[in-house]
Amino acid sequence: MLSFPKQSLDFIKKYLHRQQKEIDKNLKEVEEDDPARSPALAESSEPGTDSYIADTHAKNLVLGEILKRTKNSIKTALFKLKKGGYGKCEKCGNQIELGRLLAMPTAQYCVSCSKKVIK
Ligand SMILES: [Zn+2]
Repeated sequence: MLSFPKQSLDFIKKYLHRQQKEIDKNLKEVEEDDPARSPALAESSEPGTDSYIADTHAKNLVLGEILKRTKNSIKTALFKLKKGGYGKCEKCGNQIELGRLLAMPTAQYCVSCSKKVIK
């Protein structure tokens, strides 16, 4: 049975909601910032512009991908907070250390499993 102080869970929930809003904002910025989406720049024939567009576009794609992944893990964490199962290590099934969750609310593994998973 997983048991965390309600106070800590409330704190984590608030933090995740804030993070979610922040990521939505960043995702929008990344999309608007993408020169490949701007018709004016895309039609420009200035030398060097093509590679600038390609570079920035590639960077934004990577950034967008990271943001989307983070958004998904926040969503999962919020879902588990609501439905139960939050803070359970996905590898060994033990309760993830509270200190770890407070530092990284989207953690999926306990400290010892994360050491085995990430090499
Ligand atoms: Zn574990």
